[in-house]
Amino acid sequence: MKNEINLPSGIYLYDETEDKIDIKKIKDFIKENFKRFKFHYINLKEKVIQTKGLLFDFIETQKAFEKIRISTANDCEIILTEKLFATLEQDRRPHIRASIYSFPSVISLSGIVEGPAKPKEFYIYKQKYMALGLWDLKESQVKKKFKEHFIDYGDKRIEEVLKGYISQAIFFYMTGEPFCRSKCCRLFNAHWQKDLIYSQIKIAQFCKKHQKILKKLEN
Ligand SMILES: [Zn+2]
Repeated sequence: MKNEINLPSGIYLYDETEDKIDIKKIKDFIKENFKRFKFHYINLKEKVIQTKGLLFDFIETQKAFEKIRISTANDCEIILTEKLFATLEQDRRPHIRASIYSFPSVISLSGIVEGPAKPKEFYIYKQKYMALGLWDLKESQVKKKFKEHFIDYGDKRIEEVLKGYISQAIFFYMTGEPFCRSKCCRLFNAHWQKDLIYSQIKIAQFCKKHQKILKKLEN
């Protein structure tokens, strides 16, 4: 563990989603793994995440966030949204994001569905049916076929996946590094849905190195 670890006073989850998640599952998870920090849940009535087209607008989001903010700069602040957004990456093309780790961090439920890539076969089916004008008719059937291979809207596994993204936001706050190279860790940066499901649902824990850091934090 690096020496410079920045301990937050508390963890604040601001939720602007309408289909609220099962917050108890998240609370229990934080209590178990990040014992040291007090967890606060804020149910937002207004939306704070701002976009320009599909692009995430950090400045306008921060302005809107300031108005509703009850935490301070010493807290780890996370906003949960349903809004879909992208950021411009080095190739100058927009990439849909499941999360942005910053101050505050943002996690998008639709970004979790649309960001990490689905199996290649899914896109082949989709392309084929789109070309035939049958996608509207076939979408649910194709999604059912690949159900085990990606997270969909309204997915019952969403809280399990969120545990990973929230952990990444907390690690980002503490160390500046949200990710882990190990696929067997909640901090794995999944570019594919199948990896996301593997790390967060099949493995569903931290790697040895990160478990050790969490253990140290307890003292
Ligand atoms: Zn790890």
